[in-house]
Amino acid sequence: MRPTIAQVALPVPLDKCFDYQIPNYLYPVVGGRVSVPFGRQTLTGIVTALVDTSDLPVEQLKPIKACLDQQPVWPTPLYQLLIWCSQFYQYPLGDTFSLALPSLLRKGKAASFASMKQWHITDSGKDQFAAGFGRAHLQAQAMRLVENGPVPHPLMIEEGVSSNTLKTLQDKGWISVSHSQPVTSRWPKDIENSDLKPKLNEEQAIAIATVNNVSGFGCYLLDGVTGSGKTEVYLNLLKPVLDKGQQALILVPEIGLTPQTIQRFKRRFNVPVEVIHSGLNDTERLNAWLSARDKQAGIVIGTRSALFTPFASLGIIIVDEEHDASYKQQDTLRYHARDVAVMRAHKDNIPIVLGSATPALETLHNAQVGKYHYLTLSKRAGNAQAASHKVLDIKGLYLEGGLSAPLIAQMRRHLNDGNQVMLFLNRRGFSPALMCHECGWICECKRCDAYYTFHQGSQEIRCHHCGSQRPVVRQCEGCGSTQLVSVGVGTEQLEKQLEMQFPEFKTLRIDRDSTRRKGSLESALESIRTGEYQILIGTQMLAKGHHFPNVTLVGLIDVDGSLYSSDFRASERLAQLFIQVAGRSGRASKPGEVLLQTHHPEHALLQSLLHKDYHHFAQTALKERKMALLPPFTHLTLIRAEATQNDSTESFLRQVRHTLEAHPLFDETCMVLGPMPAPLSKRAGKYRWQLLLQIETRSKMQRILASAKPAIQLLPLAKKVRWSLDIEPQDLS
Ligand code: ADP
Ligand code: ZN
Ligand code: ZN
Repeated sequence: MRPTIAQVALPVPLDKCFDYQIPNYLYPVVGGRVSVPFGRQTLTGIVTALVDTSDLPVEQLKPIKACLDQQPVWPTPLYQLLIWCSQFYQYPLGDTFSLALPSLLRKGKAASFASMKQWHITDSGKDQFAAGFGRAHLQAQAMRLVENGPVPHPLMIEEGVSSNTLKTLQDKGWISVSHSQPVTSRWPKDIENSDLKPKLNEEQAIAIATVNNVSGFGCYLLDGVTGSGKTEVYLNLLKPVLDKGQQALILVPEIGLTPQTIQRFKRRFNVPVEVIHSGLNDTERLNAWLSARDKQAGIVIGTRSALFTPFASLGIIIVDEEHDASYKQQDTLRYHARDVAVMRAHKDNIPIVLGSATPALETLHNAQVGKYHYLTLSKRAGNAQAASHKVLDIKGLYLEGGLSAPLIAQMRRHLNDGNQVMLFLNRRGFSPALMCHECGWICECKRCDAYYTFHQGSQEIRCHHCGSQRPVVRQCEGCGSTQLVSVGVGTEQLEKQLEMQFPEFKTLRIDRDSTRRKGSLESALESIRTGEYQILIGTQMLAKGHHFPNVTLVGLIDVDGSLYSSDFRASERLAQLFIQVAGRSGRASKPGEVLLQTHHPEHALLQSLLHKDYHHFAQTALKERKMALLPPFTHLTLIRAEATQNDSTESFLRQVRHTLEAHPLFDETCMVLGPMPAPLSKRAGKYRWQLLLQIETRSKMQRILASAKPAIQLLPLAKKVRWSLDIEPQDLS
């Protein structure tokens, strides 16, 4: 007999599925989308089971309105992975499904290709080639792309052409746009362009053979210094996979910063490559998703969320820069894309390679205990040299806009030699605080437990926590004095300072304020490459996945904050930043130099990075983590709560603590810390508290949370505060 009731997961914040009647003319499938009435709305949900009975009387059940798919939306292993994610990260199933779908499918659109924007060259555009494009390098690059036929819009963006450039060219009448169905392409016989292959060195060959020798699941840490040929290893691993007609998924931290890497994959292989990033519009995203599902794409390269792309036949997963913090989602489904990728590979029974020059301590530990295979590339490929590094003790030195005299002197030397210099400072704005020179009053955000940052360019003070901003204050609210001074240095001030120090060189600042406009990051990176700017200032945005061969001096302006941070991961992040920037500068003929300004040159972390290496640091840090019972030796869950009332927030978490401690599985291997005020104890008018649960094993964490969560939801205060569970948090603020 045919089932009469469908259980449906809906995008509502409730940990349950809902029962609906199946009208006799509809045929829902498990894993397919249905459209159902919910209150007054119509929602799109995913069928999780087809059954004959319900806990509710059948006549109370509403009927399904429409079935949107005749097939499950995801292949079975991916569907199961999403269920696992929902359970592991304690996030409602319906919301988890919803997040994993392209938004057009979430809205109930058909799961088939939609027409896509394409760019064509016009006749007057062709004429222009004869006249040339002068100094308009970006325009010339865009025109060359369309010269030989229409190019889909997303492809132009991937090639580094900004939307602005396209608009300019369209306004000039040199290119035009059309909307058409993407052409379905078949993979050619010759999958690889092998003339581009370098001869592998021994370590690369061993790494590749190790992965290829095992069939089925295996997790490999590819630990190799920057420039040691990791990407070359990835390319070699893809070859046999594509030959078998299987596909590859490559995760990267940020697409905007990796155009060169993407180009290498495209140039090496003659299969379609889809690139999934936040710049895609809904149609482009759906088409990329379908292209992977229907096996048009051979390779998908994408950021965190590309992890949930369905594949007809996935053969390998690569996670590049696996240590990068951006793999962890910081809200809603707080998943770690690297960790879930390992689970995905396990469910798909395929190999996964985690690559990094600075592996996360968790990953190193997994390799050391034998859970992951350990592969290493110890030498730079080709003949590039490692950068040299040095600490500048700035105790007692006069700092001009954050710069010490020895650093300025070094900069001058490198700049005069015709090289570029890059400075890192992880603080946006002009200065992190505005203070009264007479009485010491500091201008504080009323809604947060934080100081206002002074932005000189816009003559505003802004709170970086709640986003509030107002015109800069002119008078002290304590004593009425008008002598307000800025304290500390942000990127904006550093930029001003450099323009004064080095008027003969051009300075470029790259941070969230200066790259707000879409496409502006790409054009900024391009102008660094062309050498238009000689001095580059960046927050750690600039440290990701990019190689700047003409940068021969890198300066870390202020690292003291990371040496004495309350976040136990701060030292790991600093070590990674240091090694990454050192590895990205210079080349064989121009070795790089890294200078680090600190008041604490004797600090053990700095000493171990300078005189030993990342691995020495990592071993020391792992020992410390073990003693302190911190990850990876225990597993953490951070329970955050916030409300307008300080008392109720704290009491709620106290009750949560009791609930957890009363759990039958809670024993001496478990510990709860708190409630304690969050590091930022007030934000946007809400008081913030937190509770940290520390348990020896993941499975016990899971079992305790699975049954404690419903009990927490029943606490009367649970409805009065906003609270969330962050499983294996990366950020404790
Ligand atoms: P990583 O991904 O570890 O930073 P890449 O794969 O990008 O390193 O390699 C760095 C540079 O060395 C690239 O220009 C690459 O083409 C080159 N390279 C890689 N492997 C070899 C090799 N075996 N022989 C010569 N050059 C190589
Ligand atoms: Zn604020
Ligand atoms: Zn004052």
